[in-house]
Amino acid sequence: SYIAPGENLRDLLAANQSSGSGSGLPLLVQRTIARHIHLVKQVGKGRYGEVWKGCWRGEAVAVKIFVTTDEASWRRETEIYQTVLMRHDNILGFIAADIKGTGSWTQLWLISEYHELGSLHDYLKAYTCNKGIMLQLAYSAACGISHLHAEIYGTQGKPAIAHRDIKSRNILVKQNLTCVIADFGLSVRFVSDRKEVDIPVNTRQGTKRYMSPEVLDDTLKQETFTAFKQADMYSFGLVLWEIASRCNSLASVDEYQVPFQNIVASDPSFEEMRKVVCVEKLRPTLPNQWTCEDCLMTMSQTIAECWNSNPERRLTSLRVKKTLSRLIDGTFKQDNCA
Ligand code: ADP
Ligand code: MG
Ligand code: MG
Repeated sequence: SYIAPGENLRDLLAANQSSGSGSGLPLLVQRTIARHIHLVKQVGKGRYGEVWKGCWRGEAVAVKIFVTTDEASWRRETEIYQTVLMRHDNILGFIAADIKGTGSWTQLWLISEYHELGSLHDYLKAYTCNKGIMLQLAYSAACGISHLHAEIYGTQGKPAIAHRDIKSRNILVKQNLTCVIADFGLSVRFVSDRKEVDIPVNTRQGTKRYMSPEVLDDTLKQETFTAFKQADMYSFGLVLWEIASRCNSLASVDEYQVPFQNIVASDPSFEEMRKVVCVEKLRPTLPNQWTCEDCLMTMSQTIAECWNSNPERRLTSLRVKKTLSRLIDGTFKQDNCA
């Protein structure tokens, strides 16, 4: 539990990466860090808790505080972050978890890297983006999901993970305008040689607005883990649409809108979403003018292939990552020629 004076978080985490199992700091170190954080300001409030900006030895950290009735989410999220090989540029950097207090007063803390710009939702609401930034936001998010979804084999391997609550509020924007995936309270892991999902799953959880048709009409095939990844890709299609909608490379950019903003109520019911997504098969509009430009046209096609009604026909995260990578290369070459 000893932390040398002057040692910073980056060094602590890096040292642990090279020496340990790569699945997080020793628990006592985590606890020691948690006990020396002071809370600065609240930055988020959800149904199940609060997120604060905190400070540890002068460094900003994010502190997610769960109410004790949601201990299951805290436990799950902590467990997911401590999965071997989870650490990645496009996954929110986990620092520590701790249970504070005793008896009648307890708080469950989850401490991570702090990102001043907040969620992708907040970012897109406040700013439009040029083509380069659109691609960078989309590509980096795709890299995060692709890392999550990938199973890495071997004794120190990584299970495949499905997020199950992909939305722009659960993706954060770093200072360099790339994304990290966050909020793993509903995630599930899968190791192929055990051929089973690591917890029993209540499929009808998550954010209704972003739920895939098969989750809404309760036909998701739980026996195959691929089905969970396919459901993530539907939700990610909606996120890609949100990003592309704020691209200012064409004449006009609309105000930011959440998917289905003008179609369903602000806290839509299952029934309402099912009617819209499964029965009427509606999706957000892909504007005609996007076909006038290579980049937005490819985005448009990619988005449509992510939110296909048939889960089997959706793109995988790896496919989306490769397509966006090609677009980035192409845009870069074009800009150089011009
Ligand atoms: P919940 O499970 O309650 O939805 P999240 O982990 O999604 O909690 O966080 C809720 C909100 O708090 C996010 O949408 C974002 O606005 C903010 N937030 C969460 N983590 C961070 C962080 N590391 N840095 C900055 N803001 C964050
Ligand atoms: Mg969230
Ligand atoms: Mg959550």
